[in-house]
Amino acid sequence: IMIAGCQQADNTSETNETATLSKLQVDQTKPYIGFAMDTLQDERWYRDKDYFETALHDLGANVKTLAANGVQEVQNQQVKLMIEEGIDVLVIIPADAEGAKEAVALAEAADIPVISYDKMVMNAAIDYYISFDNIKVGELQATAILNEVPEGDIAYVGGAPSDNNAHLFREGAMNVLQPKIDDGSINLVYDNFTEGWSPEVARDNFQSFLNDATVDAVIAANDGTAGGVIEALGDRRVPISGQDAELAAIQRIIDGTQTMTVYKSLENIANTAATSAYELAIGNTIETNQTVNNNLTDVPSILLDPVSVDVSNIDETVIQEGHIDPSDLTN
Ligand code: BGC
Repeated sequence: IMIAGCQQADNTSETNETATLSKLQVDQTKPYIGFAMDTLQDERWYRDKDYFETALHDLGANVKTLAANGVQEVQNQQVKLMIEEGIDVLVIIPADAEGAKEAVALAEAADIPVISYDKMVMNAAIDYYISFDNIKVGELQATAILNEVPEGDIAYVGGAPSDNNAHLFREGAMNVLQPKIDDGSINLVYDNFTEGWSPEVARDNFQSFLNDATVDAVIAANDGTAGGVIEALGDRRVPISGQDAELAAIQRIIDGTQTMTVYKSLENIANTAATSAYELAIGNTIETNQTVNNNLTDVPSILLDPVSVDVSNIDETVIQEGHIDPSDLTN
């Protein structure tokens, strides 16, 4: 960190010499950021990775990204490796909200600042959290579905129980649903998480449920699980939510099989995290205006705003922002 800071401050031969003495390769005088990703399973994560790496390269930093295929032990090993390679800052998307605290402890022991990206590492001494307002995501989903079906039987299809976000999305949905459940207008007939956010698991679980039940609407936590449920529903069409504004989901909204999705600007979160990591690497602090508790500490946080997208605003949201290329859509 010190070396990067010196080089940042001025470029005289003296500081360059110090840097060369301390680190072997010239390249290593650049700030070096480690990006430990949970998975690349859903469409969005490739784009997060792309935006994040591009932003850091543009800032003049080096970055290494490793994805753990959803396995926490693998992620802990990957973080250990990156620390041995001399990263100045760790940006982590935990594979398991609780299990990732081991990776964070390794970074902490090596005096490396940690940013939790999109998903919170729970019970760990992280320095910053950069995400979206995830409770609002759930509120947007439930609000859109209640708009379509103000009374009746509703199913909640949640995300991975090991992902803190899955709990926040559900909490947000319940903020909106609970009063309607209490006054008897809504029956919550199904309420399950989905292991690993797997669309196939969501489909199979929902298929079993549909064997002896019916439903008027579904709140699915993201586009992947929504896709699974829509498959299970077959010819039956009911209002259903999603999240991530995946291409397939936008197409389903146009086709009428999905009601809405939640668009979260990946460019925005990736750029915010990249800039923050860079600032920490050169010895600066990050400005935040709120904290989020992770059961250990109040973590200084930046929470970006999610946007509800349905058939009425596809153009002025995801298309206008360049998230979706209209030539990829069929009408
Ligand atoms: C993210 C969602 C994503 C899900 C599955 C959540 O933590 O916030 O955008 O759909 O993980 O990858």
